Amino acid sequence: MAALVLFLASAAANTVLYLNASGARQRILEDLMRAHVRLSAEVLDPVAHSRLTSAEMNGSPDHLAQLQKLQTIRRAYPQIKRLYTMRADEKDNLSIILDTFPPQAMNNEPPKIGRPPDHPLEKMREALVHLRRGELYEMSGTAPEDQVLGVMTPLPRQTSGFIDFVIADISNQYVATNLSVIRAAYYIALLVSLALALAGGFAVYLLRLRELVARQMSPGESEFFRKVTAVLPGLLYQARVSPLGQIKLTYASEDARSVCEMEPEELRRDPAAIVRLIHPDDRKQLKEKMLKANKGSKTWQEEFRVVLPKAGVRWRLGVAHVEKLADGSSLWHGFVTDTTARKQADEALRKNEASLKAAQQVAAMGSWELDLSDPTDLKSKTLRWSDETFRVFGLEPNSVPVSHDLFFQLVHPDDRALVEAALSEAVKTRGRYSLDHRIILAGGGIRHVHENAVILHHEKTGNSIAMLGTVHDITGRVRREEAVRRNEQRLKLATQAGRVGTWDYDVATKKIHWNDVMFTMKKLDPATFDPNLDESEDLLHPDDRARVMAEFNRCLSSRETRYESESRISLRDGEVLHTRSIAEILRDANGQAVRCVGIEIDVTAEKHAIESALAADRAKSEFLAMMSHEIRTPMNGVLGFTALLKETALAGDQEEYVTTIESSGQHLLHLINDILDLSKIESGRIKIHPAPFALRPFLQELFTLLRPRATEKHLDYRWNIEANAPEIILTDRTRLGQILTNLLGNAVKFTDRGKVHLQVMASKVSGSDNIWQWNFTVQDTGPGIAAGMLDKIFDPFYQADLSVTRRHGGTGLGLAISRRLARLLGGEISVTSTLGDGSEFTATILAPEALLEEPAIAPTASETGHFPGKKVLIVDDDPVGRKLCNLQLTKLGFVTVMAANGSEAVAKSREQQFDAILMDVQMPDMDGFTATREIRRFEKKRTPIIALTANAMIEDRERSLEAGMDDYISKPMKLDVLTRTLARWV
Ligand code: ADP
Repeated sequence: MAALVLFLASAAANTVLYLNASGARQRILEDLMRAHVRLSAEVLDPVAHSRLTSAEMNGSPDHLAQLQKLQTIRRAYPQIKRLYTMRADEKDNLSIILDTFPPQAMNNEPPKIGRPPDHPLEKMREALVHLRRGELYEMSGTAPEDQVLGVMTPLPRQTSGFIDFVIADISNQYVATNLSVIRAAYYIALLVSLALALAGGFAVYLLRLRELVARQMSPGESEFFRKVTAVLPGLLYQARVSPLGQIKLTYASEDARSVCEMEPEELRRDPAAIVRLIHPDDRKQLKEKMLKANKGSKTWQEEFRVVLPKAGVRWRLGVAHVEKLADGSSLWHGFVTDTTARKQADEALRKNEASLKAAQQVAAMGSWELDLSDPTDLKSKTLRWSDETFRVFGLEPNSVPVSHDLFFQLVHPDDRALVEAALSEAVKTRGRYSLDHRIILAGGGIRHVHENAVILHHEKTGNSIAMLGTVHDITGRVRREEAVRRNEQRLKLATQAGRVGTWDYDVATKKIHWNDVMFTMKKLDPATFDPNLDESEDLLHPDDRARVMAEFNRCLSSRETRYESESRISLRDGEVLHTRSIAEILRDANGQAVRCVGIEIDVTAEKHAIESALAADRAKSEFLAMMSHEIRTPMNGVLGFTALLKETALAGDQEEYVTTIESSGQHLLHLINDILDLSKIESGRIKIHPAPFALRPFLQELFTLLRPRATEKHLDYRWNIEANAPEIILTDRTRLGQILTNLLGNAVKFTDRGKVHLQVMASKVSGSDNIWQWNFTVQDTGPGIAAGMLDKIFDPFYQADLSVTRRHGGTGLGLAISRRLARLLGGEISVTSTLGDGSEFTATILAPEALLEEPAIAPTASETGHFPGKKVLIVDDDPVGRKLCNLQLTKLGFVTVMAANGSEAVAKSREQQFDAILMDVQMPDMDGFTATREIRRFEKKRTPIIALTANAMIEDRERSLEAGMDDYISKPMKLDVLTRTLARWV
């Protein structure tokens, strides 16, 4: 009875065990299927897979590569009824993409991509809900021939719209077959248990049997396991965890070697070793998750890192089904596989994506993708935009789904047709497009973008897969270009309005680019004339060509950055233009000229104006010279004869009249001289003739001239040179004399009592070798000048106090001339004055100290006056002048001969030898210069020839000396000057 009870109990226990074991067996199979499906999803390339869109891609490299991966997995698991991938579109229409064969049928043609599933899958709708959530889904269904168990899992990283997934089917028949094996074991166990029960030792056996059933398999099964696990890239295990947490490994597949670098045996002996391999950072979390799974019957899945002795840090994916056992322990049916490569690829991809994002942001360039794989209407499609594309459009990344319509709403209305045409043309021709257009920003405003797009199509079939594009914010560039265009336009208008020609010479090609003004200016037709350097050279006036080209080439070949020239241009119609060119020379890094960009202006009118102004100026000075000659000649007579008249006995008032005539004449002469001087200075025609001279005798001479008037007024009249001042100065003696005479003259003229002092100081200009600053200060105790007048007195014809001036005479030109002369000598005239107290004028000039080459000639005895028997030829066309001269010379004891013009003078000189000739320069017939040259040609002994010039111009003095004359006297002749000059030569 007891045995019967024991047997029944044993049978019941066995039944429970059988049911348990068969459940466990099925779960192991299911786990394996899951592992395979996951593995398949892992090894397939989701992107390549998503490109497999139509039957035309059958046999394409993508197709074959993906198929082969799946087939390999299938081969490792021959019990799988089918292993294939499917796609469900938005409307849940299903099609098969990759399909594997049973291992023995490998040489068959691969099944076509895209065909519909060949058996009804009614429950697929529910499955798709799970798959779309990224979850694994299992279901059983009815295939035509038998029951099937299907496990499906989605491929990662699905593109929007459709979903790709892997399915593995296993026939329930197979499960049933396997169960019959277990069932047989059950019956045997039942019988054995009966025997053993009878033997009374079944209590111990009971436990053993349970383990046996749980652990051991039929020979067919273990063969199957051996094969599968041998090829499976991963560790398949079964472990039992006691309520106290002790782990006992009941099975570990061969791949333990690569998964944890341990022999399966070793692992079985010390299963805790695997815990030690877990990366410290992942250990805590993993433990928590495992403990949680351990509590209830659950599926556990986790990715974690291990640190292996050889391979170092690697990623592992663990999947397990945890089964709670009645004794509180749990049974883990699990699989661990290496996911390092995928993790690394993911990481690389993440990095690439991150750097792509950064690059896009930096370049302000976004990218987009338009899926063209299914041939529905373009308008119904959505676009995939990169973050930067959203930003370019003024949107937050991924803030809205981008439909075709939304995109076109953002395109500027005026550009929509253009963009639409480019897009549909590219789709139609499977080509590319590149265009600039405007977009309206979400927050308002307009942006300019540049878009580039290409169509991706399948290499073999040529079917379009997608359109890929970039969008680049070019607003800044467009605005700058617009600004440049506007500036160019303005410049063009300005150059045209200002009739400024512009040219741009390219050194390498010798080509010149002209603007319209250049063509108009040079009367050439842009249609027929293509300017280059040779053509431009031809246009130059022949007389300017060599000079201009030499200068141009010099500028190009030197380091100059600027070229400037004026030249004449001979137009084809014979007209001659004057133009001015200014150009910038642009050089490369080596300093070689590469371009020359410049302007050219027609200055013909300006030239003509200057020429006529110069001509007018010449005419004016000629007129002045003429007039001064014409006035001076009669003045010569007036003053000369007045002087002679004064020496005769005059009765009563006559002497006073004669004196008045003389002073009026002198005044008139003074005025003429001043006007002449000022007009010459104003026209810039006055030249400075520096020569060395001793300052003391020079000042003495000046002082002496004015002494009579100073003495007349009982003035304290003195001059002084500071001791350190150099003896000899190098400057224009005449001009300095003119300045000082004027200042001293004014002081003596305006001062009625008190003093007139001249103080000379000199100091070396610092930093110079030998330049001295000379200060000539004239102090007086005259009436002084009102402060408001101090500036004005230097203006021509300005006189401070007309009543005083009327009393003293004067032209109002003296200070104007003196200040201008002082400036010509490198200095200035300044004045300080107090009304009623007197004035102080200081003339400053810059001049070097000099050495006198020839000592000053001491006056000879004859200077005082008598030249008895010396023969002088007087040449003058003016009879009054001749007569006056004759009278003066006779008084000095000379014998005189007269000639009325140049040719007469030449004739007379041929006849006899003179001791001196006084030669007027301006004469009709033959002038004095020509006559002198003529005489110089034939004379045997050099006769001193002294020029008589009426216009007192320095140029005349130079011309006289050039013509071969020895000295000159300006008209009207003063007796003392005449005496001194003749004494030098006779
Ligand atoms: P001018 O003496 O021929 O009138 P200036 O040009 O030499 O012409 O002088 C201009 C004016 O400056 C004089 O008319 C006079 O009013 C004033 N002036 C010049 N020098 C003196 C001076 N030393 N004292 C007072 N006034 C002077």
